[in-house]
Amino acid sequence: MKFGAIDAGGKRFICGITDENGNTLEKTSFLTETPDKTIPLVLDFFKDKEISALGIGCFGPLDLNPDSETYGFITSSPKKPWRNYNIVGTFKEKLGVPVFLDTNINAGLLGETTWGAAKNVKNAIYLTIGNGIGGAAIVENKLIHGLIHPEMGHIFVNRHPRDKFTGNCPFHGGNCLEGMASGPAIEKRWNLPLEKLSSDHPAWHLEAYYIAHAIVNYILVLSPEKIILGGDVMKYKQLFPIIRKSVINLLNGYLQNKFIFNDIENYIVAPDLGENSGFFGAATLCIKNFKQK
Ligand code: ZN
Repeated sequence: MKFGAIDAGGKRFICGITDENGNTLEKTSFLTETPDKTIPLVLDFFKDKEISALGIGCFGPLDLNPDSETYGFITSSPKKPWRNYNIVGTFKEKLGVPVFLDTNINAGLLGETTWGAAKNVKNAIYLTIGNGIGGAAIVENKLIHGLIHPEMGHIFVNRHPRDKFTGNCPFHGGNCLEGMASGPAIEKRWNLPLEKLSSDHPAWHLEAYYIAHAIVNYILVLSPEKIILGGDVMKYKQLFPIIRKSVINLLNGYLQNKFIFNDIENYIVAPDLGENSGFFGAATLCIKNFKQK
């Protein structure tokens, strides 16, 4: 039996086929342009693959309420051509198989809890910092969806007193984490591409300031046992030690937990599956749901 999986991210649609144990049989990717350009290529890839079902982890926000008229739609996405796009309906109709959808960040965490850095814990957070910022949480072994799904990248943050950048979230300007700390926000603030910022550039300390504030809030609200930080910005590994130190400083001895204070290198970590967390998560989503049907 073969299954399809898509990690639909801001830059690329990573598409592949797995067996029922999640082993990858084939994989490719397409640029995320407009639905008119990208979707036909993705459909063409899957059309003769004889998959039994398809799992999609997609950038959001998404309507994940099965009782809603717009279930399976991308809703108020900052990517305008994708707003109100019926992603589940399109694949269901064109491929004729069951389609399971979650956010790409939820899928990423599902991948990491099944095979990666959060394999042995019941409470974990996965944050990706790249083109945008997304966050997912597993609480007592269950992915949080709630009313819609968490949008942890848009929490409001305290501006650094010396930071004059006005922010670039189309909804919240410089009030939210994504507006101040996404990859494009860093590049706009310093007027340089990420790869041109030296490893000791003040940009990284400012970035760690915002990320650490957000992490402390997540720790206080959700009490995670593991925090995974991925995405293109976190490929600049110099961020990890600054973020860890800053989290400890901000907590200022509060919580008194040995995993945070004595073992922070294993508490705030990179994803084990690297860039493949979302793809493996989409496959897990598909296989799990198909078997439960
Ligand atoms: Zn925002």
